[in-house]
Amino acid sequence: METERRYWVNAPFGISDFFDTEDFEVEEDARRKLKHIDAELESAGFFFGDTCWVHKTWNKEEAIEMANAAKEIWKEWSEDEADTVSITAQPICPKCGGLGRFSDEYCSKCGTKLLPKAELNIDTGKVIPIE
Ligand SMILES: [Zn+2]
Repeated sequence: METERRYWVNAPFGISDFFDTEDFEVEEDARRKLKHIDAELESAGFFFGDTCWVHKTWNKEEAIEMANAAKEIWKEWSEDEADTVSITAQPICPKCGGLGRFSDEYCSKCGTKLLPKAELNIDTGKVIPIE
């Protein structure tokens, strides 16, 4: 039986990321386009995470749907950025149900060994452990 995991759909920032630094001048057109991408991701249901746009869900189908939506939004601007959309599977403690951080090997509440870090493949729907 596959243990339940919480899925994090990760999509790159538009203007909010590396583009919007003082030493990287962005053309007005590009800036507008990237801001538009940010607005679209936000209205699609992503929230502004620490390092990228994030959508969290327990539902695998929803995760894949959201990842594909983010890819479509990004494709308007950059296929390369669209390809970086990913889904990370957050481990849950099999004993106490506590949510681990991605980097945790053991549950911070009860010390039980957690499932390895994993990614949900957007195309196959398979959960694959990552190093
Ligand atoms: Zn635990």
